[in-house]
Amino acid sequence: MTDPIPANRVPNVYYRPEQAQCPICHTVLKRDHILWPKQVTFSTGVKKVVSWAYRCPRVTCPGSNDIFKSRKAETLHLKYRRFSRELVARIGYQRFWRHQTMYEIHDWLTQDLHLVICAREVANLIVDFLALLSAAQPAQIRDKLGRVQGVIISIDGMQPEKGNDCLYIVREIQSGVTLLAANLEDSSQDALCQYLFEPLKNLAQELGLAWHGVVSDAQETIRLAVAQSLKGIPHQACQSHCLRDAGRLTFEADRAMKKELKASFRQALPRLHKRIQALPTDDPFRPVLLDYTAALRSVLPEGGVAPFELGGIRVFEALEDLESSVIRCQKKGITSCCAG
Ligand SMILES: [Zn+2]
Repeated sequence: MTDPIPANRVPNVYYRPEQAQCPICHTVLKRDHILWPKQVTFSTGVKKVVSWAYRCPRVTCPGSNDIFKSRKAETLHLKYRRFSRELVARIGYQRFWRHQTMYEIHDWLTQDLHLVICAREVANLIVDFLALLSAAQPAQIRDKLGRVQGVIISIDGMQPEKGNDCLYIVREIQSGVTLLAANLEDSSQDALCQYLFEPLKNLAQELGLAWHGVVSDAQETIRLAVAQSLKGIPHQACQSHCLRDAGRLTFEADRAMKKELKASFRQALPRLHKRIQALPTDDPFRPVLLDYTAALRSVLPEGGVAPFELGGIRVFEALEDLESSVIRCQKKGITSCCAG
């Protein structure tokens, strides 16, 4: 779903191996061929990343057939994916640490970071994030859960579109450790028992942990599956979900206001910036006004997190602060003019 960006507008970044010399004969390595070129989307935009292969130029060196490549370039992306690891990690952070929905993340990516991405791809990247997380996780799970007396789990289900697979994340609340992530076609009581609760029970048994409680949204099949699989374990509806549902109208209204505020400034800002830049360079107001436009630009991308952090209100307040600062500045300007 990407609009192809004209090749000449995408900046190139070149990577060479971290080591400069042949480890055997210590001759300086020479550039040999392009290992891979790839268009990668970072949180700052799209870049064409080129990884160069280097080789020892001494034909008689036993290492002359070895290829040296940049380790950093390899860590930038995931195979067969066009999004950078850094972006995948930031999306995971928004989802699981800032508790944003997929649509809030999509808005953040498209409106604030100006990336071209569809909602479905956001869901895929969240799955990628979990794959990265679980690759690093087994050792951490044992380590961190070792200190927890009894597990309290939270179950979070996320369905990108109706009729699609649902992604379930199970975390241990006290330690914050992700215990399990499963992409389920079927969210019935039986499927949840089989694919979520059975593996969880096995894990807890393996680690010798007792069950202390479950928190989830009010999804009926989760409630029934917990009652079936974890008999007698307290199960509570998630307060954050309840508050989020209760605050939905306010949050939507705030988001609409933020959109309007941004739209009005996005049109006016470039024109304003041009006019200020056209002022003579020795005009004492020029740098001050440029600072104000920079401040305006940095204020607009403020985001929000439902239900309480309202991005529109934040942008509005920041704009009010700027306004009063401009007024103070105008008064001072007039005073100094009069004094002069
Ligand atoms: Zn060599």
